[in-house]
Amino acid sequence: MSKTEEPQCIYRNSNEPVEVRVRDLLSRMMLREKLGQMTQIERSVANPSAIRDLCIGSVLSGGGSAPFDGASATDWADMVDSFQKAAIQSRLGVPILYATDAVHGHNNVYGATIFPHNIGLGATRDADLVQRIGVATALEVRATGIPYTFAPCVAVCKDPRWGRCYESFSEDTEVVRKMTLVVVGLQGLPPEGHPKGYPYVAGRKNVIACAKHFIGDGGTDRGINEGNTILSFDELERNHMEPYLECLSQGVSTIMASYSSWNGRKLHSDYFLLTCILKGKLGFKGFVISDWEGIDRLSQPHGSNYHYCISASINAGVDMVMVPFRYNEFMDALVYLVESGEIPMSRIDDAVERILRVKFVAGLFEHPFTDRSLLDMVGCKMHRKLAQEAVRKSLVLLKNGKDPAKPLLPFDRKAQRILVAGRHADDLGLQCGGWSITWQGSSGRITTGTTILDGIKEAVGDETEVIYEECPSPATFVGQGFSFAIVIVGEATYVESMGDNSELTIPFNGIDMVNLVADRVPTLVILISGRPLVLEPWLLERMEALVAAWLPGSEGRGVADVIFGDYDFEGLLPMSWPRMVDQLPLNKGDQSYDPLFPLGFGLRTK
Ligand code: BGC
Repeated sequence: MSKTEEPQCIYRNSNEPVEVRVRDLLSRMMLREKLGQMTQIERSVANPSAIRDLCIGSVLSGGGSAPFDGASATDWADMVDSFQKAAIQSRLGVPILYATDAVHGHNNVYGATIFPHNIGLGATRDADLVQRIGVATALEVRATGIPYTFAPCVAVCKDPRWGRCYESFSEDTEVVRKMTLVVVGLQGLPPEGHPKGYPYVAGRKNVIACAKHFIGDGGTDRGINEGNTILSFDELERNHMEPYLECLSQGVSTIMASYSSWNGRKLHSDYFLLTCILKGKLGFKGFVISDWEGIDRLSQPHGSNYHYCISASINAGVDMVMVPFRYNEFMDALVYLVESGEIPMSRIDDAVERILRVKFVAGLFEHPFTDRSLLDMVGCKMHRKLAQEAVRKSLVLLKNGKDPAKPLLPFDRKAQRILVAGRHADDLGLQCGGWSITWQGSSGRITTGTTILDGIKEAVGDETEVIYEECPSPATFVGQGFSFAIVIVGEATYVESMGDNSELTIPFNGIDMVNLVADRVPTLVILISGRPLVLEPWLLERMEALVAAWLPGSEGRGVADVIFGDYDFEGLLPMSWPRMVDQLPLNKGDQSYDPLFPLGFGLRTK
């Protein structure tokens, strides 16, 4: 595979229709090159010679990847371009697809804008806003040379015990469906008459989107991550399919299979759902990607060999495999399975056609490298303003005054002394949540932005003193004469299975802190969490006001905008708020629906 193909081949001619280019290129490929295209490997094991010689289809910086420590946007672009250069030097010069999880902005890159997680965006009910966030995210991602994001997550989360609840826009299928307009933001708006199910990417300022995780990931029994969704096909369609139908109308280019099972069968090996339904009935023409080590996990819980896992998932309809590390073993096994007839050649050709189609549609053959003129977009003022707007609109006011005739909010900026308490008040990492710089996220100044405390200080006038106590004690109040307090409590950062939680209590010392402060001064409690948390009646009674702020991301200033009355609250609950965990799952329409606050609840101050 040394000599590069002649430049005048049909597939290189951008005037030829995509389907003609796909067929031409496919006809020139050797088996190993085809299998290389189906292989997605992790950045740390990717090296230029492997990419070139094995004709690797895609490289990723995924959740499980080591963080690219201290890397600037330019470092990212350099890294992606160096891999791309190697791909272009392969015999046929097929560009790689570099992929990342830009799930709330370009969240792995230091200094990029981090938007609220999906649950907060679901609270806004504002599809236009979500589309604009898609546009901004695409620009920031593309600025670093990356053409592909594993977003949006269109899970319909039926149970807040699920560790990925915050990646879901809502428990309500219709809300999730509306929010899939983010795909149009990411990929661009397909022209009228664009065939449903056919991939679409408008240009170099857009990215390839990935609707995930197909299907039923948010509907598992007891909200267990990677668990089992027990539903009839009708129920599965009714509850979880609509968002995918919408994504297909918008030309979503890729779809990720879910780790979860449907009635005991893992989605990664579900021929009926991946091939008969998604590709057959619904006419999806982009590619299906596995999840991270998704095919390896087919062996659980009974244990079975790697060959079985590979053939079961490729034969079921997985086109590209997020291997992500053991790629030599994977590719050798794949060669064996094809040569022994366990995977038909027609299946391989179909998978490769789909992958090449997306690459042609995205214009990667014409423009494989980073457009560095976009670099200024990363974390720019305009995008931060947009994130601030999203934070504002995502806040849900759950209570305002023990006596509604005497509301606590909005606050008067001229109050003399304000106590702000709790570590979540001044912690950018906690307010961003998981999938922020690192996979799990972490506490601290993980990137650039404003904490909620920064925002409050900026918003109040000079006459007002803001006193911050991470962990107040009775002594905090001696002789202080606070006019009111703002206590900010919430969850630690988490992702995926490590976020599964059957208790849903406010962690750390949150409950004690609310109790201590609210006993002494009128208190607004702001909850920073990826889901509703259980609020005991006595605790709720203690609070003068309560706001659910979800995981707002890097622009904490948006909170001050609303609590000081520059804007009113607009957010509506994206999830039903349970009184206790024993009620779960608790969804609107259930026979014995008795939430603390129903789906769609949200007060205004005016
Ligand atoms: C997650 C996916 C993600 C992938 C790559 C998996 O663990 O389930 O949502 O896209 O990792 O990071």
